[in-house]
Amino acid sequence: MCLIDCFRYEDPACDFLERFLWPEGPICPHCGEMERVRHLYGSTAPGTWKCYACRKMFSARMKTPFHNSHLPLHASLQAIYLLAATQGRIGSSRLATILGVSQRAAWLLKKRIMERSGRHIDGPVQQPSSLIAALAELADWQDERPSIDRSWSCDLRYDRFRLALDGADETKTDGLFLVSLHRFVGDAIPAIYESTVGAGGGVLLLSEDCDGQFEFDLGISARSALARLQPGIGPR
Ligand SMILES: [Zn+2]
Repeated sequence: MCLIDCFRYEDPACDFLERFLWPEGPICPHCGEMERVRHLYGSTAPGTWKCYACRKMFSARMKTPFHNSHLPLHASLQAIYLLAATQGRIGSSRLATILGVSQRAAWLLKKRIMERSGRHIDGPVQQPSSLIAALAELADWQDERPSIDRSWSCDLRYDRFRLALDGADETKTDGLFLVSLHRFVGDAIPAIYESTVGAGGGVLLLSEDCDGQFEFDLGISARSALARLQPGIGPR
């Protein structure tokens, strides 16, 4: 499975997040029910589930920073991937162009991702290099457009995303992306560096297939996966 395939449309992005957060299957975040839950299709948002124990709706986005985001999940995942691929160096202006969102939305998204995942993307959290740079970014906000340009199709966004990744080592970036995502969702799953993973927690399997691509699945110790990807960093 190539991770990047998850980032084209909303449904596979939701499926991906569910596999990432619920390796044992869906868990109702309201009451912990794992059996009497059903995926809802049709008029509900992609990735919506209903718990028949507590009668509430839920999704894998709940209790993560993706919850209540105005951005589609696949666009947020693209942003995390791009930041991992460029080691945090992609500017919010370029990010806005690729994702088809306002510069303010891109700036806030980048800031949020870097604050939560930045240490795992490229050492210390990235900060605006000077007050002038920060003010220049703020000035761009004055010409703010709606947070999502609806004319942007998923395909167009994905084409821009792939173009921006031209030359990136996707095998390495897949691993960095998973570490960043793990960090980004924070309390939703235990830290990747923990050798034991709690009930319902995600366990990462990063294995290399015959084409040298890393596969994402369940089962391996996150510690050994990470040590293989980033031998210089190691567990905390
Ligand atoms: Zn429930």
